[in-house]
Amino acid sequence: MSNGHNVTAGGAAVKEKGQESALFPTYARYPLSLVKGEGSWLWDDQGKRYLDFMCGLAVTNLGHAPKAVAERLKQQIDTLWHVSNLFQIPGQEQAAQLLTANSCADAVFFCNSGAEANEAAIKLARRYHQKVKQNGKYEVITFTQSFHGRTLATLTATGQDKVKEGFLPLPAGFKSVPLHDKEALEAAVSDVTAAVMLEMIQAEGGVYPVEADFVDYVVELCREHGLLLIVDEIQTGMGRTGKLFAHEHYGIEPDIFTIAKGVGSGFSVGAMLGKGYLREAFTAGSHGSTFGGTPLAMAAVNATVEIIVGEKLADRAAEMGEYLMERLNSRLGDSPFVKEVRGKGLLIGIECVEPIGELVLAGQRKGLLFVPAGPNVIRLLPNLYVTKEEIDQAVELLAEVIEEHTAAKK
Ligand SMILES: *Cc1c(COP(=O)(O)O)cnc(C)c1O
Repeated sequence: MSNGHNVTAGGAAVKEKGQESALFPTYARYPLSLVKGEGSWLWDDQGKRYLDFMCGLAVTNLGHAPKAVAERLKQQIDTLWHVSNLFQIPGQEQAAQLLTANSCADAVFFCNSGAEANEAAIKLARRYHQKVKQNGKYEVITFTQSFHGRTLATLTATGQDKVKEGFLPLPAGFKSVPLHDKEALEAAVSDVTAAVMLEMIQAEGGVYPVEADFVDYVVELCREHGLLLIVDEIQTGMGRTGKLFAHEHYGIEPDIFTIAKGVGSGFSVGAMLGKGYLREAFTAGSHGSTFGGTPLAMAAVNATVEIIVGEKLADRAAEMGEYLMERLNSRLGDSPFVKEVRGKGLLIGIECVEPIGELVLAGQRKGLLFVPAGPNVIRLLPNLYVTKEEIDQAVELLAEVIEEHTAAKK
């Protein structure tokens, strides 16, 4: 073909090598191509091995290419991939049974991502007030430094300005107040407030666990004003923090909570879970998704949830998280570079005294993958099967990265 295009064997046009990427540059990508994964390990296209302490951002909670999930997916691939939600989907019913039997929720809506799950939660909250309660309430209060997704409604719900730049006008009906500020929260509640939306640990925002006393206050405020409590468990759910869902640490039962990331072991799935009294707000035709809860996706979800629950992997995350925390404190506790180590289970943040972007790259050169959470916080998210040996190895590599970084500055 003319104008710089080649064609594939099948006749499709492809750009020549050396030209600009054909992708929108929405990601500042690291210069690594990861081509194979197994358990806690990844390999790049040069054959170099990496210890994965980020798990695709809390997605591969069972490690890479878990065999039991792969088997179920392979069986399903040979049987049936997709049917419309206009039909009965037994796998979807089964996944919903599993999730509700193991949580405070009574009903599930399946979709394909975290942002979509939060969209469903926001829509359900509005519709409950407007159709069931008939009170016209619509506003959702969220918190500064929160992260709820990238669709227009969920980026508006997100309490960080950087995700909103250039996307005006934003949808109406959202307010953010500082986390742990009871007065600001109470002042924000009005006649139109429908719900409060909260992460139990602000993950993207810097790994900040919410204080129990504040959670109690939010629950009480919601009860008093008839607001729905929505908990975003997209990063904290599926065993990651040492409970199946992080709100269990606080002994609370949200009206609605959302999951995604870890629920399909890497297959893209999201879900919005709610209390039974919300059923009458989401009647037939009120919400939907072409790909939500297909037989293929549900094979991944059923296998994943059965394993996490059956093998008590949340307990394992709690135990390994304690070990990781203890190793980090003993190896890095005295480092002048480290301000604080915090988190729950296997969602851990190491707050440093300066930006850590260079450390992420230095870690990659040493064969350790981790991510930032905000500019100064190193975020560690190993899989739930991580071993003590792998933790020892990761802590040693991380300590070397920090020591070499501080030595080079002197
Ligand atoms: C990742 C994340 C989202 C968005 O999920 P997507 O699948 O990327 O849309 C929302 N909330 C939290 C807390 C997350 O960590």
